[in-house]
Amino acid sequence: MSFEATAAYAKKQDKKDPLKKFRKEFHFPGGKGEKRIYFCGNSLGLQPKDVEKAIKQELKDWKNLAVDGYLHAKNPWLYYQHYFRKPLSKIMGCKKEEVTVMNALTVNLHLLLLSFYRPAGVRYKIMMEAGAFPSDQYAAETQVGFYGYDPADAIIEIAPREGEKTLRTEDILNAIEENKDSLALVLFGGINYYTGQLFDIKAITEAAHTAGAIAGFDLAHVAGNVPMRLHYWGVDFAAWCSYKYLNAGPGAVSGIYIHEQYANDTRYRRMGGWWGNDEKTRFKMEKGFIPQEGAGGWQLSTAQVFNMVSLKASLNLFDEAGIHALRHKSLRLTAYLEFLLHQLHHISFEILTPADPLQRGAQLSLFFTENGKAIHQRLTGKGLVVDYREPGVIRFAPAPLYNSFEDVYRVYEILKEV
Ligand SMILES: *Cc1c(COP(=O)(O)O)cnc(C)c1O
Repeated sequence: MSFEATAAYAKKQDKKDPLKKFRKEFHFPGGKGEKRIYFCGNSLGLQPKDVEKAIKQELKDWKNLAVDGYLHAKNPWLYYQHYFRKPLSKIMGCKKEEVTVMNALTVNLHLLLLSFYRPAGVRYKIMMEAGAFPSDQYAAETQVGFYGYDPADAIIEIAPREGEKTLRTEDILNAIEENKDSLALVLFGGINYYTGQLFDIKAITEAAHTAGAIAGFDLAHVAGNVPMRLHYWGVDFAAWCSYKYLNAGPGAVSGIYIHEQYANDTRYRRMGGWWGNDEKTRFKMEKGFIPQEGAGGWQLSTAQVFNMVSLKASLNLFDEAGIHALRHKSLRLTAYLEFLLHQLHHISFEILTPADPLQRGAQLSLFFTENGKAIHQRLTGKGLVVDYREPGVIRFAPAPLYNSFEDVYRVYEILKEV
């Protein structure tokens, strides 16, 4: 890819961008006359303008129909989870029956671990990337503790080599192979939240399976960012939140994927609830849990309509834009940011995120050896929304659905001035 560091060039790219119309589908933060640049979609995606209408529809149906809304709302609440299966299956690369939405991400990690982390005999260890998102660390730590293991023994963390910032795939695969007798589960992030490294999910899954272990992934930073092929890669399970690149609002419902081979496999214990019961017999209120086929069989509670409705509105945009077209733009957008960063010589920083576009999504993490915090404050003061993570890392995430090449160029101009 070749780029130019001029505003005219950036504008030209936006003009040619087949996805440019989606930008105006979003609310950008900031009062009147204050133009803020939003590069924080990896933390909380922007609000799609259609969300308000979608929420109002549910409020109206609740007001006018009350309990009858379960069957007669514009989007009958009884089947609310059904509305997500098709659009999410396209984003995740799996069958419709393999996905559903329910609960929140960490809750789902625990539920899925209860099903798929099955320590027995000498095979009881969980392998993770070192520096995984804290909630994932706590989930693994408390799960192994739940079975009476010592986390220091039962959790194997793979760290980058001395002097390196990200993991080499070969090191991950070798570590899996070396621990093949004791591994019960490989639980990796899809993209590490801190470094922005996208892992080779296909290769990790294959290695885990060869070692006789289950392969599960936390796709919080992947969902809506990088297209997946979960079914085809044979991934066993995955979970993600929908308030990052999926733009469904703070704390919005989590998604889960479970490979179809487990749909009816009762060896994989699960927690039962009436919303996971076969829909044909759910309201017979009888004894004996009969799970629905597929990921829906892991649902527990009545669909949380108000925690799902924004995702529904947001997924319409993904469906229209197409995850592959988004990725195509994203590769260029992030590469353009990287190109411009390389033109800056007055501030010293290191890009932690891999330079290989296939090992990253929409995020570049910059490590500032000095004054990271102060630089972050300066950027914020100039209207740029990016986040800061100790010690000294600022994450920049141009989201292809609503960010433009001009946004990227303006960020470069702001950085030139600090
Ligand atoms: C954002 C994120 C979470 C957050 O979990 P919640 O239960 O939604 O608070 C967990 N894990 C990863 C990897 C994340 O990126």
